Amino acid sequence: MAGGKIIFIPLGGAQEVGASCYFLKLGENNLLLDCGEGRTRGIKFSPKFSALLDTPYLQDFHQVSHIFLSHAHLDHSAALPDFLELNERAAIYMTDLTREILSAQLEERFASIEKNISSVAFLQKIPLPQMKISFHQAGHIPGAMMTLINFRGKNILYTGDYSTFPTQLVGSALLPDVKIDILILCGLHARHPHYRRYGDTDAALKKILRKIFLALSWRKSVYCQVTQISKGVELISLINKFLPHAEIFIDEQVMKIVRRFENLHIPIMREQNHPLSHFPREPHVILSTRPPPPRTGFEILKGDFSLHDDFSATVDFVRRINPKICVVVHSPPDKIFHAGMTLEQVLINDPDSRTSFIFPRTGEPFEL
Ligand SMILES: [Zn+2]
Ligand SMILES: [Zn+2]
Repeated sequence: MAGGKIIFIPLGGAQEVGASCYFLKLGENNLLLDCGEGRTRGIKFSPKFSALLDTPYLQDFHQVSHIFLSHAHLDHSAALPDFLELNERAAIYMTDLTREILSAQLEERFASIEKNISSVAFLQKIPLPQMKISFHQAGHIPGAMMTLINFRGKNILYTGDYSTFPTQLVGSALLPDVKIDILILCGLHARHPHYRRYGDTDAALKKILRKIFLALSWRKSVYCQVTQISKGVELISLINKFLPHAEIFIDEQVMKIVRRFENLHIPIMREQNHPLSHFPREPHVILSTRPPPPRTGFEILKGDFSLHDDFSATVDFVRRINPKICVVVHSPPDKIFHAGMTLEQVLINDPDSRTSFIFPRTGEPFEL
């Protein structure tokens, strides 16, 4: 095989969210970017690792030497134990914060990957044969990193999930100060032209806060089921900020993550926040990972919202980086039929853009 080729194959999380895992071959180096789990109708699935062995690019999983893990959300991280069953030697790189949040989420499964993890810091550089790698703040959630790889003079940036706006818990993404040739973009809203944030706050989040405010003013308690444990932490901070008098009761799953944040000196809890041991009489908010109990009287809410750039921020981001090639992954189609222009269609009409786009399918190899 020629020494300088760059081959990219998504093993999951291509034109959908879930099981994000991207194979990147840089000459003789075989890497994975993320290794997450997917879910359809409650059933978990792993990336299609076996698809790699159907290609001429890999004969044995032990040839994969390094895994770069962008952040602790399970759609990017929870299949690590599965991959280590195929290759117990792979070295995994992530930030300390990601490691903390991940260990709380994977619980006993974390033990099987712990010895393979090396912690990295933002702006830290690690030299590997034929490449230089560095890590950059991605926004989105605490600990999230972008991975920049310099291979044979080309700069390849994998964004992971990122946000160019600050959230309650973390600042905005900080881009490396180099010209990017190949951008591997987790473009959640790249095909959702109508999805728009309002300032720093997602519309869904504003709705949640408004519903909590109204319920409490009617002296009604709120049961809010969070879809991702780490979003529970985000919600606590936001409720504390915007509804400072609300009493919040937090289930033990979310509390576990709260404690990890606090261990790393990111304060979350305040006086009005309590671990959930009973449902008190006064109007209050319950944040839980479990479905609500069959008890009437609660205002029931789904604690789901987006920590991603909206459509126009995604366009601006790619326009600003202006890579030669943009591989768009983590990019589900719009639910609205004939929704309007996609990221690609907007930038094709921009005379200053030099970017050609690839929207790969899972298992489909590309030479970049
Ligand atoms: Zn994420
Ligand atoms: Zn994601």
